[in-house]
Amino acid sequence: MSPRSSRPVILTGDRTTGPLHLGHYVGSLRNRVALQYSHEQYVLLADTQALTDNANDPGKVRRNVIEVALDYLAVGIAPSVSTICVQSALPALAELTLLYLNFVSVARLERNPTIKDEIQARGFGRDIPAGFLCYPAAQAADITAFKASVVPVGEDQAPIIEQTNEIVRRINRQVGRTLLPEARALIPASGRLPGVDGKEKMSKSQGNAIPLSASDDDIALAVQRMYTDPDHLRAADPGRVEGNVVFTYLDAFDPDVDAVAALKAEYRRGGLGDMVLKRRLAGILQDTIAPIRERRAALAKDPDTILDILRAGTARGRGLTEQTKAEVIDGLGLFRL
Ligand code: ATP
Ligand code: MG
Repeated sequence: MSPRSSRPVILTGDRTTGPLHLGHYVGSLRNRVALQYSHEQYVLLADTQALTDNANDPGKVRRNVIEVALDYLAVGIAPSVSTICVQSALPALAELTLLYLNFVSVARLERNPTIKDEIQARGFGRDIPAGFLCYPAAQAADITAFKASVVPVGEDQAPIIEQTNEIVRRINRQVGRTLLPEARALIPASGRLPGVDGKEKMSKSQGNAIPLSASDDDIALAVQRMYTDPDHLRAADPGRVEGNVVFTYLDAFDPDVDAVAALKAEYRRGGLGDMVLKRRLAGILQDTIAPIRERRAALAKDPDTILDILRAGTARGRGLTEQTKAEVIDGLGLFRL
């Protein structure tokens, strides 16, 4: 694989705040595995970004670099075709962030709907870390440093990509030509996967996730606790499908679309018990996760190989990101020794 091939470039990544979960799988990982052969794909272990709301626990951020790398390899992101980089080991990303922060206002950062939601979920007030408020500028740096035009992300990240493109347009205007490409968010039709608690989003930070390393028992327990229709007390009663987390998961994971449609009809009519549904879902999730968990456990036995993959990928990413940084500095007409 040569850098700057004619294939469109993908940049994607994950905060190293915990092992990846089913939300990542449907939201982004599946797309990455499918697209890696037709695109030039860079995958970022976003440890610097993870620190923006975890400054009190750098050990967690560090540990999860390897955990997330294991998840990548276990789901089928192949280092022979995809380049996996460690964010903190690419200084050009930090330098571009510093430049880009001058092309976005505090008011615009505060207006970003994703940031607003995340601030609320984390309970930040005036004590919000400056790095957290500014992470969309850092994400713009990540995306543009690799000159990515495609970003496979979950639906929650769409406003971040929009903000990236605003920064890109401002810089291109200042430079006087299309130095940086605009990026397109590639969002799966399934939307965002809710948490097992029924909250809007499964998230590492909210304790409502089923990790890709979950055991069969963990999966069964999580499904058993899932929220269905609170008014569906007896199997014979008609039940509600909308907002029923078990059906949301069946839509995302059950390959038999016709069977799910029939189950929905039966549930609405009455006569289908929650336990039957939950047993079906648990089985499907167990079948989805088992091969990933087994590959992950095998890979975890050889940490040196994981480190070699990260070193090689990061070295490849360094050349590209340094080149973009130099182009931005020259394009803006700043001093360069
Ligand atoms: P944190 O709680 O630390 O922010 P997270 O679970 O939100 O972690 P991220 O690393 O922020 O995970 O997200 C990485 C990618 O996975 C993003 O593209 C995001 O949109 C996607 N993603 C995360 N959670 C979900 C979900 N529940 N459904 C769909 N996509 C998701
Ligand atoms: Mg997140």
